Amino acid sequence: MLRFDDHIAVAVSGGKDSLTLLRVLRKIEKRFPRATLTAVTVDEGIDGYRAEAVRLARESCRELGVNHLIVSFRELFGQTLDEIVSLKKELSPCSYCGVLRRRAIHIAAKEAKANKIATAHNLDDEVQTILLNIFHGDANRIARVEPVLVDPAGRFLQRIKPLCEIPEKEVALYAYLSRTEFQTCPCPYLGTALRNDIREMLNRFEERHPGTKFTIFRSVERLRDSLKAFVTPVELRDCLRCGEPTTGPLCEVCKMLGRVVDCPRI
Ligand SMILES: [Zn+2]
Repeated sequence: MLRFDDHIAVAVSGGKDSLTLLRVLRKIEKRFPRATLTAVTVDEGIDGYRAEAVRLARESCRELGVNHLIVSFRELFGQTLDEIVSLKKELSPCSYCGVLRRRAIHIAAKEAKANKIATAHNLDDEVQTILLNIFHGDANRIARVEPVLVDPAGRFLQRIKPLCEIPEKEVALYAYLSRTEFQTCPCPYLGTALRNDIREMLNRFEERHPGTKFTIFRSVERLRDSLKAFVTPVELRDCLRCGEPTTGPLCEVCKMLGRVVDCPRI
């Protein structure tokens, strides 16, 4: 996942996972003089929730001596997530947030001149996503979403998930033992109902049959190459509005913002 001269943009939300990832990567990066780390925090504009997380992210970056870049939905897209959600209800808040956050992190990482983006998805997140994709019948996504995402055409920055094999409980334990202060209150929009059901189911299985999460993760890792052979490669072109790579005439972000708000900034 990592090279000695990488400039890694770490997506830091202020939760236990991202602050743990930042702490661990900082330890590693110190041993490599040509490596650089930049923490990137996205302020989505969620009232009563985000301010505390941004403060915690800022304090951790200061303590660890890591450069910190904060970008906001308002500044990039002209609206906060709260405003977007109150305007349109076609999609769930998490759908809007997921697409816009990904773009915001990408913009910030490019601004920092990073060559990689590290996100703090843990084993639980990854296995939930695998099952969600199966439940949605989306085999293509299972093939495409892997711990190291490389775009052969070089249009997207490489994305890595260094904690993808670490169970959530162990990440939490590391955060407590390293005395990391992290945000404990959950996002008011909190995941989709289906993901929550899958999380509960997996935790129940893991308790009764320890190792279940690893087994699912490993199975998909082994199947992925075979799955890829059946997935038609997507051809990317420039989004007519913002110029970012997309499969259709408009990218997901522009499609969403077109429905939500007309923003001249992107
Ligand atoms: Zn676009």
